[in-house]
Amino acid sequence: MSLPADFVFSQTSLQDYADCARRFELRYVQRVRWPALQAEPALEHERHLRQGERFHHLVHQHQLGIPAEALGTSIDDPVLRAWWQAYLAWPLEDLPARRWPETALSAPLGEYRLLAKFDLLAVEPGGRAVIIDWKTSPHPPPREWLAKRLQTRVYPLVLALAGEELTGGSPILPDQIEMIYWYPSGNPVRFPYTTAQFERDQAVLLQTVEDIAQRAEFPLTPELKTCAFCTYRSLCDRGERAASLDALLDAEEGSADSPPQIDLDQIAEIEF
Ligand code: SF4
Repeated sequence: MSLPADFVFSQTSLQDYADCARRFELRYVQRVRWPALQAEPALEHERHLRQGERFHHLVHQHQLGIPAEALGTSIDDPVLRAWWQAYLAWPLEDLPARRWPETALSAPLGEYRLLAKFDLLAVEPGGRAVIIDWKTSPHPPPREWLAKRLQTRVYPLVLALAGEELTGGSPILPDQIEMIYWYPSGNPVRFPYTTAQFERDQAVLLQTVEDIAQRAEFPLTPELKTCAFCTYRSLCDRGERAASLDALLDAEEGSADSPPQIDLDQIAEIEF
């Protein structure tokens, strides 16, 4: 297997690997661009993705200091307006004052590097360091599901390994870190980090990266439902038709009987 020596891992590529080894191979090793729709109707799906991007852009501008009133006047979309109003109605009030919106950090992981692209970092040098990720699904998924997501593992790990780049050399210790997922419903999900979790995450991810680098074969996932929203499904002979946008949104939200299957906010990070 030929993973380039300068390959940079991310929560997105590691989540792809966790979901389906073949998807990782197609997307990151063979770099196959497969022009299939993820969901139909295509225009509505596209609009949904653009709404998420615009929301992140609005929040980014607000965190940089542009007044909310000035930003609000540019919103012409009711879905986006509802998210924006929720953002203003449910602020995260106890954050450290120093802010780094839309910031990327990377750290060594074995022979490779691990990258995290943060929506917002709020850091008090020598004190708390909070990672905020803006989500747009209507309600938080089950906490246990979120806890297992690679994003929840990768972001605090990278901040602990590379945070001193932000603080002028003062290390950020795992016990100072908290990860918060914000949702429009106003009930954020918080994950305090610990030294023990940091050590577990580092060991597990290092092992994962070594496994990937040594792999000769990347099998297709046996979980057929994972293929329903995968753009490679016709290439893998796992179905021709795109899923409906409603099914995609249902899969994002999950239900009492079934955990979410997909994180739409992650799709925009595939470029990483
Ligand atoms: S279609 Fe299914 S088997 Fe093929 S890459 Fe996607 S998730 Fe994996």
